[in-house]
Amino acid sequence: MSTISTEEFVARLAKKPLENFSAIEHIEEFFLRERGYVFKLPKPGMPVIHLVSGGVESTVLWGLMLEKYHLCVYPLFLRRGTKRWEKERRAVDFFSKFYRARYPKLFREPFDMGLQVVSPEVEVAIRKPYQYYHPQRILDAYRPETGISTLLSLGGFPIAYPFYGLSYASYLWDHHNVRVNHFFSGVAPEDGGLVASQTITALRVTMLVMSIASANAVLQFGSLAFEKEYGLWLEKKDLIMLGARMGLPLEYTWSCYGAGSQQCGDRCLTCLHRRGAFVAAGIVDKTLYSCDAWLEKVKRRVVSAWYRLTSSSLRDRGTVEETETWKHEEVKTPWKQNQRRKSDIRSQEIKKNIEG
Ligand SMILES: [Zn+2]
Repeated sequence: MSTISTEEFVARLAKKPLENFSAIEHIEEFFLRERGYVFKLPKPGMPVIHLVSGGVESTVLWGLMLEKYHLCVYPLFLRRGTKRWEKERRAVDFFSKFYRARYPKLFREPFDMGLQVVSPEVEVAIRKPYQYYHPQRILDAYRPETGISTLLSLGGFPIAYPFYGLSYASYLWDHHNVRVNHFFSGVAPEDGGLVASQTITALRVTMLVMSIASANAVLQFGSLAFEKEYGLWLEKKDLIMLGARMGLPLEYTWSCYGAGSQQCGDRCLTCLHRRGAFVAAGIVDKTLYSCDAWLEKVKRRVVSAWYRLTSSSLRDRGTVEETETWKHEEVKTPWKQNQRRKSDIRSQEIKKNIEG
């Protein structure tokens, strides 16, 4: 597995507009003063909690922790309120069976934690955005080159998820006499280019809060795909290559925001990233996508015609105009100004790679 120097890591990080170097420096100084290190790899056999979602990144990293680092992984699956949780859980079940047979000594069953992080009210709004959001807000989030609106991916609350690991750690300590100080997620370097809660800044902030809030000086949180102290910079394509080398049937992972019988393949950001990453990795993508099925294409045309009809009847009734006074003002922070431009460029690159 290739690693990069600290200088190279920092140089790559400097190109990411959502990273906040001042915050990273302050937090790392704090940990160096308090415990003499920022992040250390846990020793083989140590118990760690790993957030699994059934996606490519968390699934490959789960396997990597067992295969390479020989860690005793306690997977934590958050059963969120979203419709797609059953698809994600099915993927986790598949790989549980796979890893159970391959690593019988280190394997631990995933723990299901029921949450309603995306509240039912918010989820309804996301399903019918044209009845809820101001049209300008939808247009602002629309990416013409991909034909999708990033607004539809909202509703999740990823910055909160690692904290549920603390709750699981208390459970393991109280009921199974297992003390866990290490927490991992499946964040990959490119995630922080689009989502502020997936930056190395956010990973460090989360570790700081978790450590202080639980009065545990040795607590660690991070991602083994994205760690400065060890020069780990594994993008989605690198993880796909690693997974293929480990013989993982990656077509059984689930990335789609939707909950159809198959992953959409072309309508959500995660599907686009997934397909682009397989192309970039040079690995054959065996996943079945609904965009490749002819019956699905016909169904989509009927549904979009129906949506167009109902949207125009809503406008005729004045439902949309009534919200005209509501203005969406974009929040701008100094390190965020180029975010939209960069994400647009990235979307275009992905689209080109898939088509090419
Ligand atoms: Zn999708």
